[in-house]
Amino acid sequence: MHARAPMSSSSALPLPLPFFFLHLLLLLFPPCCTGCSRHLLLHAGANSSSSSSLADMLQVQAGDGANVTDGLRRYLARFGYASVPDDADGQLVVRLYQSTLGLPVTGRLDNRTLDLLATPRCGVPDLHLQPNATARFAFFEGQPRWARQPGHFLLTYAVVSSSPPYQPLPLPRKAVRRAFRRAFARWARVIPVRFRETRDYNMADVRVGFLAGDHGDGEPFDGPLGVLGHAFSPPSGQLHLDAAERWAVGDMADADAGAVDLESVATHEIGHVLGLAHSSVPDAIMYPSLKPRTRKTELTLDDVRGVQALYGSNPRFSLSSLSEPDTSSASPAAAYTNTRSPGKTTTATAIPLLLLVAITLLC
Ligand SMILES: [Zn+2]
Ligand SMILES: [Zn+2]
Repeated sequence: MHARAPMSSSSALPLPLPFFFLHLLLLLFPPCCTGCSRHLLLHAGANSSSSSSLADMLQVQAGDGANVTDGLRRYLARFGYASVPDDADGQLVVRLYQSTLGLPVTGRLDNRTLDLLATPRCGVPDLHLQPNATARFAFFEGQPRWARQPGHFLLTYAVVSSSPPYQPLPLPRKAVRRAFRRAFARWARVIPVRFRETRDYNMADVRVGFLAGDHGDGEPFDGPLGVLGHAFSPPSGQLHLDAAERWAVGDMADADAGAVDLESVATHEIGHVLGLAHSSVPDAIMYPSLKPRTRKTELTLDDVRGVQALYGSNPRFSLSSLSEPDTSSASPAAAYTNTRSPGKTTTATAIPLLLLVAITLLC
């Protein structure tokens, strides 16, 4: 069994825990589970592929409330939040997680923190750079970039399928190609780099594929939700998506529960391919988390400044043409609020409430 930190009064979660818990159920097991913790344990055990999975974290939470459990510590360590000495109650690692991702720094597993922990995300670990008022973008260590001749240069990319270990495409090839064409075009608009699709996968600079579970690069995927994809810094060019997701394109309002917008994840992972690490600006494309049934495809000023710091500006691009507001200097609390449309927030709150009422009646 996992060692469990004692629950202090400051770490106890008040009334909203059932709402958070049911929200997790809705995200992870939308059709069949109705909020019983025993069901959660059974499902979590069945889906758990590693000791550091979200399911593992939930297993412990089902009985322990909102403590920083060993399962949660392992989950955080996987994404760059290693435990530190003299942190028995986990406040330090929680504070690091909160400050890195633009949350109010409370040191407690408050609702916002739990909500973000439960949100599917990119598998690339987060960095812990001290953000300043004007830039929260980050680079990988050593600031790698594609080193080509100055000015406009060309990177080729290919989408591979049905060639082991790659899985068949989860959507019609035309839809996948269109999603990536649009995603690459967003970055090409702001930097002097062109992208062109090629059929020669072995010769492509950027290689895109859907993979499942342990696929040989030391970064196994974990099944539906959890980790959605990952990509490697230049000049690797490897961009991997978890084949187990319910990938979708187009209007997410019509998508299934748990559907993940391919174009949004593609745009994010291309940022890694170009050399950007995760940003602490919640609105930014390079923020690591993405809720299901959410489209997030427009580069923010933070993304643009980051990628232009590596490659310079496309001479035909003007910052004034950005449609997104500048969230780089917003307070963490305000920026976090901005990541949700009012409609989504209402839905996310109302559905757990209805489930809670239904469970109360059934039990
Ligand atoms: Zn990422
Ligand atoms: Zn991989």
